[in-house]
Amino acid sequence: MVCKCGKETYFRRKYEGIDLCKECFAQSVEKKIKKNIRINKLISRGDKICVAISGGKDSIACLNIMNEIAKKRNDVELFAITIDEGIGPYRKKTIKKAEEACNLLKIPLKKYSFKEEFEKPLKEIIKNNPKLNACTYCGVLRRKLINQKAKENKATKIAFGFNLNDEAESVFLNFVFGNLDKFLRIGAKVESKTIKKFVPRIKPLREIPEKEVFAYCDALNLPYFKEKICPYGKESVRKTIRKYLYDLEEKYPGSLFQIVNFADLIIPPLNKQVLKKRKIKYCKICGEPASKEICKACELLEK
Ligand code: SF4
Ligand code: ZN
Ligand code: ZN
Repeated sequence: MVCKCGKETYFRRKYEGIDLCKECFAQSVEKKIKKNIRINKLISRGDKICVAISGGKDSIACLNIMNEIAKKRNDVELFAITIDEGIGPYRKKTIKKAEEACNLLKIPLKKYSFKEEFEKPLKEIIKNNPKLNACTYCGVLRRKLINQKAKENKATKIAFGFNLNDEAESVFLNFVFGNLDKFLRIGAKVESKTIKKFVPRIKPLREIPEKEVFAYCDALNLPYFKEKICPYGKESVRKTIRKYLYDLEEKYPGSLFQIVNFADLIIPPLNKQVLKKRKIKYCKICGEPASKEICKACELLEK
């Protein structure tokens, strides 16, 4: 099989039943991302967008497409942010890739670390609490730091490289744990008009399956970290769900889209009901938005 343009196949997109050459594939991925941005109004005039990058394929693909868009508009500003949690050589290597990509695309990169901001790297933070999973600390503290630093740098939005698989996993995960609050925060744009200090989050790659993100970065020769995964990333429910969804998509192409589409269908009416009853709180220690008196990050740091 060959691409519709006659060139050799680079990627077979099963859920659409088409073969694409390298150029047509990259163009088609970009077209899908731009459509998501347009339909969900992810970018507005005057935006200063902070792209959260780790150096992995998702964040680098996100950085590249945001750069393509920002280059063509003079009303959108861009910068990247990366966090060194203090995981050791693994994170040092991914940050190197983040720097390489920012240099290549000429995007300013701001670097922050747990060590400087929370006084200790992740390795030491978890020493005091071995019962808790490293990922719990890492995820909560990283999100807090990204939001805080984006705000300090006057960002109006934070772009994350979440792909379709990530989003479908989140739907399942929150369903499995019955976490309605987190479930309602799923979407292409997460914002709150009532919560101050919360920088809206956008997910431009949300409709792109993980396999295509890899293929997109390779098609464009973008630098990204390809080697082994984080040493703390052990067995988890998310990983089990990830594997299950991969198998499901292989057997029934299009399943991931259906899962995310279904969530998109039921979240807005549910949100209307829940928002009416929700009381906004701000952490007593750091002042950031929180669901309880003390935010999750401060709670973990106190421990
Ligand atoms: Fe952090 Fe866990 Fe991801 Fe490693 S696997 S970067 S510890 S969240
Ligand atoms: Zn082609
Ligand atoms: Zn706090």
